[in-house]
Amino acid sequence: MMEKETTGATEQTRFDVVIIGAGMGGIYGTYRFSRQGLSVLCLESAEGVGGVWHLNRYPGARVDIESTEYCYWFSRELFREWKWSERFAAQPELERYMNHVVDRFDLRKHMRFNHTVVAAQRLARDNLWQVDTENGKRFTCRFLVTAMGNLTAPRKPDFPGLENFKGEWVQTSRWPKRPVAIKGRRIGVIGTGASGVQVIPELAKEARHLTVFQRSPNYVVPPQNRPLDPAEIEALVKDFERNRHEAFTVSRISKLARGPITQYTSEEVQRLLEEQWSVHGAHGMSILFQNSQIDWGINQVISEFVRNKIRAIVKDPVTAEKLCPYKHGVGNRRLGVCTGYYETYNRDNVSLVDIHNDPIVGITETGIQTQSGHHELDLIVFSIGFRSFTGTLIDANIQNEHGKGITEHWKPGWKTMLGFMTSGFPNLFMAAGTGGIGFSANAFPVNEQQMDWIGDCIAHMDRNGHKTIEADPAAEAAWGKVVADIANRRLQMTRKLRDRNVHVDPETGERFCMTFMGGLGAYTEHCDKSAANGYEGFILR
Ligand code: NAP
Repeated sequence: MMEKETTGATEQTRFDVVIIGAGMGGIYGTYRFSRQGLSVLCLESAEGVGGVWHLNRYPGARVDIESTEYCYWFSRELFREWKWSERFAAQPELERYMNHVVDRFDLRKHMRFNHTVVAAQRLARDNLWQVDTENGKRFTCRFLVTAMGNLTAPRKPDFPGLENFKGEWVQTSRWPKRPVAIKGRRIGVIGTGASGVQVIPELAKEARHLTVFQRSPNYVVPPQNRPLDPAEIEALVKDFERNRHEAFTVSRISKLARGPITQYTSEEVQRLLEEQWSVHGAHGMSILFQNSQIDWGINQVISEFVRNKIRAIVKDPVTAEKLCPYKHGVGNRRLGVCTGYYETYNRDNVSLVDIHNDPIVGITETGIQTQSGHHELDLIVFSIGFRSFTGTLIDANIQNEHGKGITEHWKPGWKTMLGFMTSGFPNLFMAAGTGGIGFSANAFPVNEQQMDWIGDCIAHMDRNGHKTIEADPAAEAAWGKVVADIANRRLQMTRKLRDRNVHVDPETGERFCMTFMGGLGAYTEHCDKSAANGYEGFILR
């Protein structure tokens, strides 16, 4: 264990573990590592905890996995105490929950806010990582754990002329804490991904006029949100261990899967689709029938059902047709989950511009210029997504002892063992890292699974006198193949779809799926097997 060392009167600068990010993973990591007796520092660039749930505070931001699944399972008492108000919690409640967890387990003392990591350098001679923050602080640690999230670093709006715009502009990914005036304004939203489809109906309620600039239409399914009865939480607490085990192995939506489509008549298929849409809602739509993410024909039965919903809801047939996706199917890209999305286009104060066919030429002093016309605006909302997976790693400027950055080391494609570690970067753990579980249907429990695995690994090293661990290049190659073999059967890959999970090498055009798509249960088995075999696939020294 590392001796506590101080500089000046109080400030400790040397730690066993430095965690970057106080989101869902970082909070649990801080709890887990400190409880096992390690000295821990959690550095967070924002002024509070919550990660994306601190930053993505746009109107309408809401979780699209059920609240009682998208929460911590490490403490029965915590689970019992927190009474989720809705089946799908909104951002303010999620942020309150994370603050509650931090205070309840007295974790804030391990955290420093407004500390943006701008460099992390491996010092081989001292067997330490040296971590620098933007505000001029320097820390060292034996183990560096990144918990920055895969969808945290925003894409910068780089539309020509933005600097001349006299109105106001904001991003959903960094929605300001100060009030943003909506009422009576002419607002433009660019982007109709998972966040865009949530913010659009909310803005439409108050805007004088809302213009949606859509490059690609998205499938949007209602969540069937409702108030949550405390009895539902009690029922989960009653059989907590079994439910906990299930949360870590089988996602709740997968229980709604109906097996092969061929066992149903077409009337039955339509009845099941209608039941999914109007009763269960949300992501279950993507996996209702076996192989719906592998077989385009099966997928299109679901996709056509949703397109028919769009045609039925949206009164203007021209707008309805613009909203219908054809290039990708339901679930091939992140599904939108929102109440009343398509209904919004029936409002008199909402219009849709198809910027695939009528591209944005630039931004003027007073609005957005597309090829065919000018749209006068007071507020532009960019909902254009993130530099997925590698953006945060690049921004933190993590370099190995030879001064090489991770993404440079990863050309043309990523190399990791189980997503946790990459060769040549000893004692650097990446939680929910590339090639591990990025985001999947049962994403939340992965935060605990990952930090538990890392904590156990550090304990194993300390027990056995190991000073360093890193991924074995041969094991990385084998793991890359496991990930690719699963991903390459899926429609994202077979149909060469643009997707945040897929990295395309700009030089070779080679496509790499960034995440293990085999589910948390299977992933955990891989991780547990490696640990049981003395961290097979990793080199311990
Ligand atoms: P996103 O899904 O990547 O969507 C970005 C949108 O911006 C797309 O419609 C994209 O169009 C458009 N776009 C990007 N660059 C553009 C450009 N230069 N010009 C015009 N349009 C452009 O990003 P997001 O909506 O911010 O969502 C990101 C992730 O946040 C989601 O995948 C999801 O995991 C997460 N999220 C989660 C929840 C939750 O409940 N857990 C809720 C909301 C969001 P193209 O499709 O043509 O590229």
